[in-house]
Amino acid sequence: MDMQVTFLDRLFDSGLLIDTGVEGLYARSGTFEDVITGFERLIDKFSGETGAEVIRFPPGMNRSYFEGSGYMKNFPQLAGTVHCFCGDDLAHADLIQCMAAGEDWTGGQKASDIVLTPAACYPLYPIVAKRGNLGPSGGLFNIQSYCFRHEPSMDPARMQLFRMREFVRMGKPADVMAFRQEWMEKGKELMAQVALPVDIDVANDPFFGRAGRLMKNNQRDQNLKFELLIPITSVSKPTACMSFNYHQDHFGKTWDLKTVDGETAHTACVGFGLERIALALFHHHGLDPKLWPSEVRDALFG
Ligand code: ATP
Ligand code: MG
Repeated sequence: MDMQVTFLDRLFDSGLLIDTGVEGLYARSGTFEDVITGFERLIDKFSGETGAEVIRFPPGMNRSYFEGSGYMKNFPQLAGTVHCFCGDDLAHADLIQCMAAGEDWTGGQKASDIVLTPAACYPLYPIVAKRGNLGPSGGLFNIQSYCFRHEPSMDPARMQLFRMREFVRMGKPADVMAFRQEWMEKGKELMAQVALPVDIDVANDPFFGRAGRLMKNNQRDQNLKFELLIPITSVSKPTACMSFNYHQDHFGKTWDLKTVDGETAHTACVGFGLERIALALFHHHGLDPKLWPSEVRDALFG
């Protein structure tokens, strides 16, 4: 019997996750949400990033920003767009008829100005770039967004819609790299407070197709991405619950984002997968938070 199926079944049985009939699309119970709220409070208490500008994004972003980001070049397989009906009475009648006949009614849907956000920081760079050069200390942001990725799976830790908390640093290369380095330590300490076993390893993003292989190797060779891994549904293949990404000047160049001196800014982000962290807590400490070790309860709910 597959371990993953078992954990998902237990999550459904306990009511922590609620089945919607689509893989990777779940409703969550109050208890599940309390754990996420507690963990986000712990992030804020622990982070020390007191000067960070707080921004909360809706789950969709400006389609032109999405196009400018190059996401479709690298990850077309994951993207989700928002399409809408824009027709007249006749087109509406056709649509209703198709639906009633069980035929494809979506062919006439037109792309809207919104696409689903693939990662919490994608909408951030163009917004910040529009403000002009960064200040003397660069940029530091505390952001959160629902994210969509078309990767349906029976693994409860691989959702199609999930929340990502991030800190994003922009500025000179040395400052940005130091930020990422500090967070790799802080991430381990943070998870120790809630008694989760972690490993940190170099990683790569799932760049698409044949050209993507080069990108993956390059990302690994240059240590541009690290993941904090916690066993959830498999011990041999632990799940990435945080990632630590150095983009070099990629987003700086893409959005013409400049430091105070007018040089192209470098950027880095550290991301928390909030549902994955909640699932890691349920997996390691049990499905009822009332029965969790007192130090874990204190850290999250104290
Ligand atoms: P994976 O290698 O498992 O696909 P990722 O490299 O795609 O993860 P990132 O793009 O770095 O992940 O996203 C930041 C964080 O968002 C991840 O560390 C993870 O905790 C969370 N995350 C990513 N994809 C999902 C998903 N499908 N469901 C739930 N959380 C996710
Ligand atoms: Mg992924």
